[in-house]
Amino acid sequence: MDEMQRLFTKSQFRSLLELKLKNEFATDQREASNEIFYKALCLVLKDALLEKRRHFAAQTDSRGKKRVYYLCMEFLIGRSLKNNLYNLGMEEIAQEVLQEMNVSLDDLYELEPDAGLGNGGLGRLAACFLDSLASQDYCATGYSILYEYGIFKQKIIDGWQTETPDNWLPGGDVWLVPRRDQAVDVHFDGEIQEYWHEGFHEVHHVNYSTVKAVPFDLYLSGFDSEGVSKLRLWKATSPGLDMELFNKGDYLRAMGQNSMAEVISKVLYPNDNHVEGKMLRLRQQYFMCAASIADICRWQLKTYGTMENLPEKVAIHINDTHPTLAVPELMRILLDECGYSWEKAWSLVTRTFAYTNHTVMSEALEVWNEDLFKACLPRIYQIVHEINERACAVLFEKTGDLQQVARMAVVADHRVRMANLSVIASHSVNGVSKIHSDILKKSVFHDFYTVMPQKFCNVTNGIASRRWLYQSNPALTGLLNDLIGTGYIKDTAQLEKFRRYEHSESVLKQLAKVKHANKEAFAAYIQKNTGVALNPDSVFDVQVKRLHEYKRQHLNALHIITQYQQLLENPNMDFVPKTYIFGAKAAPGYYLAKQIIRLICSLSKELEQNPLLRDKLRILYLEDYRVTLSEQLMPASEISEQISLAGTEASGTGNMKLMLNGAVTIGTLDGANIEIKEACGDENIITFGMTAEEVDAQKAAGYRPKEIYDNNETIKKAIDLLTRGIAGNTFEDVANSLKNSDPYMVLRDFEAYRRAQEYASQCYRDTMKWQRMSVNNIAGAGQFSADRSIQEYAKNIWGLK
Ligand SMILES: *Cc1c(COP(=O)(O)O)cnc(C)c1O
Repeated sequence: MDEMQRLFTKSQFRSLLELKLKNEFATDQREASNEIFYKALCLVLKDALLEKRRHFAAQTDSRGKKRVYYLCMEFLIGRSLKNNLYNLGMEEIAQEVLQEMNVSLDDLYELEPDAGLGNGGLGRLAACFLDSLASQDYCATGYSILYEYGIFKQKIIDGWQTETPDNWLPGGDVWLVPRRDQAVDVHFDGEIQEYWHEGFHEVHHVNYSTVKAVPFDLYLSGFDSEGVSKLRLWKATSPGLDMELFNKGDYLRAMGQNSMAEVISKVLYPNDNHVEGKMLRLRQQYFMCAASIADICRWQLKTYGTMENLPEKVAIHINDTHPTLAVPELMRILLDECGYSWEKAWSLVTRTFAYTNHTVMSEALEVWNEDLFKACLPRIYQIVHEINERACAVLFEKTGDLQQVARMAVVADHRVRMANLSVIASHSVNGVSKIHSDILKKSVFHDFYTVMPQKFCNVTNGIASRRWLYQSNPALTGLLNDLIGTGYIKDTAQLEKFRRYEHSESVLKQLAKVKHANKEAFAAYIQKNTGVALNPDSVFDVQVKRLHEYKRQHLNALHIITQYQQLLENPNMDFVPKTYIFGAKAAPGYYLAKQIIRLICSLSKELEQNPLLRDKLRILYLEDYRVTLSEQLMPASEISEQISLAGTEASGTGNMKLMLNGAVTIGTLDGANIEIKEACGDENIITFGMTAEEVDAQKAAGYRPKEIYDNNETIKKAIDLLTRGIAGNTFEDVANSLKNSDPYMVLRDFEAYRRAQEYASQCYRDTMKWQRMSVNNIAGAGQFSADRSIQEYAKNIWGLK
């Protein structure tokens, strides 16, 4: 990337770093600790990004260009230092300058904590999108909460997951720019008073409690671009003593407001694809939405002096239904504060909002108890109620079907249904892979689709390909640069050029060498950190993602048990050595998920105890799977396990990271796996199991897992071991769930999975064949860049030029 614009020359950079050491830390290069070097380096970059963003945003506004506001309760950022250095073209210079100061840049990278403000795929997607938006010069602001504690740290103790708080701000806060001058008051609880005043309907929210939202900004550089994205994180603070209450003698209430306030931004809810319906979560959502909408409106009025052209200047995106309260909040401002008529306000709102759905599973669809909602947000409740009344009237006009309208209602059965509100209020509704977008139209949103088909579209997810290839896999990047040039780094479609080499034996050998070196490096890292000595000549078979029954880690585990049992019976059988690598956090309250973790860890222990087997069959359970660990693991991965029950995984993005690093997918026809199959070619992916249609048919016909258990010896033997015990632990609950309900049809897909695994081993034996599959995966991975996703959002949904 020699032609790339650099932010500073080497000597400029050196002076800036020296200046920071001197002025911020009262030290110099001979005295400073690595911690201080780390902070000083971050501060140099932060200053530069702040300035670059200011210039970029001013350019955007002076040209009257539209801005994007991306609302999401989660941004799983990971580390920023390396990304910012790379994206700004400053890595080499930083490395040189630090080396001259006897400091290792790699050591400094290790000092940065992950900003884990998200659970999994949804939050990581939001982070990837900010990167791609900046890289393509779109002016974007992400909005979320400054959780004091991000996703918990996972420790595995005797096979059990234990959670410890993720206190990330010491170390992570160097990137944050507090903007106390732009704080916003958010009102909760209280009552609504309504009356007519000089012909106007006036609404007053009284006796509310106030929480102050203070913004902290984090900047993310684009790659080789003018753009910088801003992530504005709101911290909840108390508004200070309410002197009015205090003077009225209501001492306790005046004090009580303070304790309620800070709780709101204390901790991220650790559930993935599951809702709890708790009051505090509702408060978090409204807090984030109200502060963000106030911020957007303040900017709009300052820049354009009117709300009239809001939809031309602003696109607001709600990532899943979690930020949907932004809709009634914008209505509230337009009605109560700007004095717009309902019709006019609704027209502005519906032309501004777009919504992405992330799941079709019922336990993850947000519905709020109506009484709780009303008590917590009385004015917002009134507006949602009115949206519902008017929408139902219009929908009945169109359909004439009362039952259909009842299914589409926002408020019904004492529940507020957030997904229906999102669809009604947005001009665009998209799913995150082709199959998921089709399922939305056929199932959860079918009623809406028949009435408003033009709203529905698809944007398949993508990943920050530079983070997961260029930055984290230098060996593969080097090979690609030699063979196809560096154009693919900005234009990932050019990875397609690599396919030319699928029949070049020398390239296939080089690729095999790169993978082997990456496996050795990962094995060394594991040896150093855990003491476990992996066999780098075994297949690294990887399933890393949140732990959830629908993702079916227990299908993988059950298959490993059967392999173990076969090897015990026949230790000399022809067997391709395997290392199964798992990484997953379970929601702390998800009992069965935690049992599955314990099962995998017990199985790992039992295999380790058998010295004759363990070099053939081994399990590594990676503690605390997170973005940084993912970056380290992907380059060494060979098999990508994407084995969710068809119709349950909306897209998956882990599948894309692994493909980009040359891993071959063993997967169901679910989520983006289907598009991955098209992109790498049928013979370069191993698919198995029921299709989503077959799953539906099986459910309709009645599914009886017990019959499979009774009739399949292999399955029976494996499940019986769960009850008999593995490494001294028994797993009755997992066994009973599989035998008696098996909601994600593990047993039904087991045989197909076993054959798929067998086929994978067979392919792996033929090294050239395997490397050819790998080439085709890397070559086809270009379309799964978040750059491509963002181009589609920009053109088809946000109307950006
Ligand atoms: C990419 C990523 C995910 C998403 O993985 P899926 O396999 O798509 O569920 C989850 N967690 C982390 C840390 C990630 O980097």
